[in-house]
Amino acid sequence: LAKSWSTPPEEALRVAAGFDLASADLSATPGWEHGEDAAVKRLRKDGERLGEAQERLYAHGRAGGTRAVLLVLQGMDTAGKGGIVRHVLGLVDPQGVQLRSFGVPTEKERSQPFLQRIREGLPAGGRIGVFDRSHYEDVLVVRVNELVPRAVWEARYDQINTFEREVSEAGTVIVKVALLVSAQEQKARLRERLERPDKYWKYNPGDVDERLKWVRYQEAYQAVLDRTSTEVAPWYAVPADNKWFARLAVGRLLRDAVEGLHLGWPPADFDVEEEKARLDAQPF
Ligand code: ADP
Repeated sequence: LAKSWSTPPEEALRVAAGFDLASADLSATPGWEHGEDAAVKRLRKDGERLGEAQERLYAHGRAGGTRAVLLVLQGMDTAGKGGIVRHVLGLVDPQGVQLRSFGVPTEKERSQPFLQRIREGLPAGGRIGVFDRSHYEDVLVVRVNELVPRAVWEARYDQINTFEREVSEAGTVIVKVALLVSAQEQKARLRERLERPDKYWKYNPGDVDERLKWVRYQEAYQAVLDRTSTEVAPWYAVPADNKWFARLAVGRLLRDAVEGLHLGWPPADFDVEEEKARLDAQPF
């Protein structure tokens, strides 16, 4: 029998008032007391259930349904966003997944309202959308590096909350995950990239300068968690120094979000008996 959470991640990881990033233990595994091997088994089980629920969601979309799920992934470099995509989304049919990565805005994107490229990337009905980085970069990297005046980024928290409420009201369940890696663990992961030729491609010299701004990033993340964790779009603070824990937690959050739609199979839009008769009447 697969081991279970002592407290489900919706409860154990949901950001509540008073959450303090600076004092959080990022090697902890809140709500899970069975270690890594059991976590790997549990994730496999959750993946099966996620896959089944996702197939109903996809069928719903094919039948014109508008429900969708959006997983927003944020985290510092090396926090493990790519691993979540591989190890969690990798458990479901890629047809039903709509993955979008948000990097440095193009010139055209910079000339548009910051939420425009995000709106354009929202999942269609029936899909699980995944944002690898998101509109939150517009109050994280942008804030830390003062890429726009303070008054501009200050106004964005409310704009984001309004936007997410609209998205939610249109039928998309939003799950926001902050993958929280410690500075020491990040250093170790960057160091590893320099040891291994198969990881050089992930290494970006600029990331090493960026990590010197750690404290300011931490403040920017704290502001995001304080100001944008809402009833319709809560943040989950996922300690990510243990990659296996982050994957376990996100797998379960996603499974619950898709199952929580409680979708049945769409009814046939044709006469089943008539179709059986027609098919049976054919000569081969
Ligand atoms: P990753 O680092 O996730 O592997 P990239 O190499 O494409 O992917 O890096 C994305 C970069 O784009 C990050 O440094 C991120 O901070 C930056 N970025 C994303 N959104 C914005 C934005 N709105 N404004 C400025 N920079 C952004």
